[in-house]
Amino acid sequence: MSDAGTVYLVGAGPGDPGLLTLRGLECLQRADLVLYDGLANPLLLRHSSAYAERTSRAQGPDGRRLDQDQINQRMIDAARAGQTVVRLKGGDPFIFGRGSEEAAALSAAGIPFEVVPGITAATAAGEYAGISYTHRERASAVAFITGHEDPAKPESSLDYSALAAFPGTLVFYMGLHRLSAIVDALISAGKASDTPASVVCRASTPFQRTVSSRLDELPAATERAQLSPPSLIVVGECVRQRETIAWFERRPLFGMRIGITRPVDQAEPAIRQVLELGAEPVLLPTIRIGPVDDWSVVDATIQRLHEYDWIVFTSANGVRSLLRRTWDIGADVRRLGGVQLAAIGPATAEALREFHLRADLIPDEFRAEALADRLRPHVDGRSVLWARASRGRDVLQKEIRAAGAQIEELVVYKNTDVEEFPAQERQLLEEGAVDWVGLGSPSIARNFAALLPPAARSRIGKGLSLASISPVTSAAAREANLEIHAEAAEYTWPGILRAIAAQYTE
Ligand code: SAH
Repeated sequence: MSDAGTVYLVGAGPGDPGLLTLRGLECLQRADLVLYDGLANPLLLRHSSAYAERTSRAQGPDGRRLDQDQINQRMIDAARAGQTVVRLKGGDPFIFGRGSEEAAALSAAGIPFEVVPGITAATAAGEYAGISYTHRERASAVAFITGHEDPAKPESSLDYSALAAFPGTLVFYMGLHRLSAIVDALISAGKASDTPASVVCRASTPFQRTVSSRLDELPAATERAQLSPPSLIVVGECVRQRETIAWFERRPLFGMRIGITRPVDQAEPAIRQVLELGAEPVLLPTIRIGPVDDWSVVDATIQRLHEYDWIVFTSANGVRSLLRRTWDIGADVRRLGGVQLAAIGPATAEALREFHLRADLIPDEFRAEALADRLRPHVDGRSVLWARASRGRDVLQKEIRAAGAQIEELVVYKNTDVEEFPAQERQLLEEGAVDWVGLGSPSIARNFAALLPPAARSRIGKGLSLASISPVTSAAAREANLEIHAEAAEYTWPGILRAIAAQYTE
């Protein structure tokens, strides 16, 4: 028993993957097993290296179905086997979430557990739709109510007369399928039929939609707008405020899906930028990054790094692989001595900065030719080390050698091709549900072309647009029969996203 792992019942927040608590993040980072429910955003799983499994009490897309007892048992068994378990639950675990039942089962089994609160859907829907439930001039209380019970049934535990007389805002969870019955019950119990009301669907996600109307017209308005679960029903004067303070739906790429083709462990900044633009990131890595098979050459080179005049880095990965390895073999950045450092662009320079190193040289244009041009005056008769991937362009080597330098190539990480896109992402591409895909290098463009399912290829130009990071990448894409619809002016991922956003601001 004392060896049992801990179970963390963690609130995943309402949908926006930025709305996870710090404690929740810590738990995900230390987990061995993550069991997440259908409302938790799968993007949260990128914070964890644990084995993750979706639990679904309804029939899920993968056909698996676990009832509550089975979920409880999975947690208990894993904890007894010594695993740290995160049970990731949409919103807040204890607000209409059965979290307390799970806690009771853990307690009965003698498993140590902790409950980490989350931002519940109602809270997020308020902020993201521009509705303050307790605006001091409009409401002095708020009630969270289950809409799951049929108000027409005598066994309903909800007293609609009390709800109609409630001096504040009513927020119904799980009520969309009973919207008409709820509205009828409230009005029959005396609620004014012209009370302002809203349905907020998929709050805090790029697919958030809100319909507002008088209470008696809400079912028809919701039907016309074809809103679907998960949705909340909000009833009260506070809804009027939305017109002035709604902000989220005005983001530049709101409602779009943007495919990110970077390797997953390098996708983080792009994921954040896409989310901040109001869009949904779809991870479509075409390359997998991994360690080299044999470190002996790298290790030997690390011992004499100070002997080089320059070290050239052409990716953030190259920086991290070489410098982490330096640390792992018991050395540190002092090995670099007075070596000059060149970085191909800002992301690479930023990776150097993580190790408190400043790039001495960054070209204005972030490509190998420009890097070689900038290096040329400095390298005649000098020794240059190029920390590179196992595959990539060879331009740099030729140019630097031609400039009179002695250049040594050191493969510090391996990049291999991904064989296929994950099923769910592939389906989104095929359905035409991905609006843009960003292509970050010529090899990624070629890989993307090879991985693209035929049904998705026929969507290009008809719903699916492609954005390239640079002219070299656009050329490679066109050679692979991919049409390019936007090209970055600055050869970075933020540049790609600016080029996409520019299509909508004319
Ligand atoms: N524990 C969760 C609620 C689970 S019950 C929480 O604290 O948010 C499921 C109900 O939550 C759904 O039927 C819907 O009413 C609501 N819900 C969850 N996520 C939502 C979202 N992003 N937008 C609107 N409603 C949501």
